[in-house]
Amino acid sequence: MKFFNTLGREKQEFKPLRDGEVTLYACGPTVYALPHIGNFRSFFFADTLHRYLEYKGYKVKFAMNITDIDDKTIRDSKEAGVSLKEFTDKYTKVFFEGLDALNIKRADFYPKATENIPEMIDLVQHLLDKELAYIVNGSVYYSIHKFPDYGKLSGMDLGQLEHGHRVDVDEYEKDAPGDFAVWKAASAEEIERKIFFDTPWGKGRPGWHIECSAMSRKELGQPFDIHTGGVDLIFPHHENEIAQSEGAYGEKFVNYWLHGEHLSVDGRKMSKSKGNYFTLTDLLEKYSYNEIRYLFLSTHYRDKLNYTEPAMKNAASGAAKLELALQNLDFFIANAKEGKEDKEFLATVEKRKTEFNEAMDDDLDTPRALRAIHELVSDIYRYEAKEKKALEKAKESLRTLLHVFGLFEKEGEREALGEALMAKIKEREAARAAKDFEKADSIRDELKKKGVLLDDFPEGTRWRRA
Ligand code: AMP
Ligand code: ZN
Repeated sequence: MKFFNTLGREKQEFKPLRDGEVTLYACGPTVYALPHIGNFRSFFFADTLHRYLEYKGYKVKFAMNITDIDDKTIRDSKEAGVSLKEFTDKYTKVFFEGLDALNIKRADFYPKATENIPEMIDLVQHLLDKELAYIVNGSVYYSIHKFPDYGKLSGMDLGQLEHGHRVDVDEYEKDAPGDFAVWKAASAEEIERKIFFDTPWGKGRPGWHIECSAMSRKELGQPFDIHTGGVDLIFPHHENEIAQSEGAYGEKFVNYWLHGEHLSVDGRKMSKSKGNYFTLTDLLEKYSYNEIRYLFLSTHYRDKLNYTEPAMKNAASGAAKLELALQNLDFFIANAKEGKEDKEFLATVEKRKTEFNEAMDDDLDTPRALRAIHELVSDIYRYEAKEKKALEKAKESLRTLLHVFGLFEKEGEREALGEALMAKIKEREAARAAKDFEKADSIRDELKKKGVLLDDFPEGTRWRRA
């Protein structure tokens, strides 16, 4: 299994620190606004990795942080006129609802920054003891010139950078590096709003970057195997995490860094002012979680994904094909003959599984793995209702692969249709094929009265409950 490691910029064979186990950390949400579908693309990518590692038999220990204190949460909670906690609790809840709506598998830990302050203070103290950090007016800055590896992840060159140049904000660009704040002295306003913690160097609160260094170490230890996030986090966030963790403890922080590309809308960066900003809830009004997952899966995680209505429609039709195949497979099984297991057909099924695995082993190539699933579906259609045992095993395999992608597996999402109703659907399909539209329409109306609605696609008819 190979992953493209941002650290070194090449595909590398994956070897976990401990046999059979993987420690995984993903940068989670900053809970200051409704997460948009771009954010969810990043969480979805971590989910795909999580699911695939488990499918490969690894025991995965997975932590994702919740940033509930930083520049943005403090600023916007003030604007909303509520306490930081009330403000961030609301968006944390929305975040978890989104995970469930998209069928994203839960991580083992969701540490909140505000609940791990002692660990952060301890880390800052280590940096001060080692003279990698210094205090100015109660804030603590990391002296990046003292960490020789600074820039190894993002490839930035400190070059002519003036010693002691400082940046106070959490987010800044690659062309504006400097000694960054690992701890920020409380402002008068923060003192008034009681947003501060006591430390040996005064009242203040953590900088954003120190949060992930401290919480990943607490939950997973150091070093750990894989760290993920969106590409925008490579600099400064992840570069700074490395400087903090490796500087403070003198050991490697992370072995594999995986970064997911962004999602744009109609070719432009998603933003509120352009009116192309939408949340997961907006999208779920029009499309199912399966269709949204399918859209994400159709593009490799390291490629930009441009959201357009036609792309979404394509994804919906791809998902419909798979869903229809599951229905037809049940129909084939119901009509298949009992007999000796068909080894030849099972060999074909195995071949498709191998293709799926090879694609995913190659840096999680989900578009290629999706094609293997569609090939398996075509094999099943060619086979139709021949031998029962082989078909049942094919169904198990198809379900297993779909599970890696989190598709069609929500409880009670789609109960099986009775045989009589299935037969009616087939009868109507035959009528349509024979251009007997009158009969086709009358069957449609008949089913509608029974609460079953039909949607016709070029590949066949899909049913749903009214
Ligand atoms: P934030 O809540 O801003 O801290 O972001 C949470 C995650 O979403 C991070 O891993 C970001 O890199 C990622 N992210 C932000 N914007 C986008 C986008 N347009 N497409 C994909 N991922 C994004
Ligand atoms: Zn982080």
